[in-house]
Amino acid sequence: MDKTIQEKIQSCSGNDGCAPDLNDGKAIVDKVRQVGVGNGYLETPHQVDCSCGETFTMVQFETSCPSCDMTYGVTPCSSHDPSSIKAAGIKY
Ligand SMILES: [Zn+2]
Repeated sequence: MDKTIQEKIQSCSGNDGCAPDLNDGKAIVDKVRQVGVGNGYLETPHQVDCSCGETFTMVQFETSCPSCDMTYGVTPCSSHDPSSIKAAGIKY
């Protein structure tokens, strides 16, 4: 992974301010983009059961469903918890 992104993830992990409304997928994806870690890789990839019926592995903080293009996001400070992964919207 890019070193700069890794540092950003680490600095965000220790920052409570990185938690927006954790039920709002758009707020999460906005936050991930704002801190510039969307292309960063999760320490633990998670299986996502998309509402379209597809199951895929989320490997980055921002990942789209390969079937319906639903964008999912998770913040670095909550990335260990699959229930913190939220949908932001299709092609968001
Ligand atoms: Zn889908």
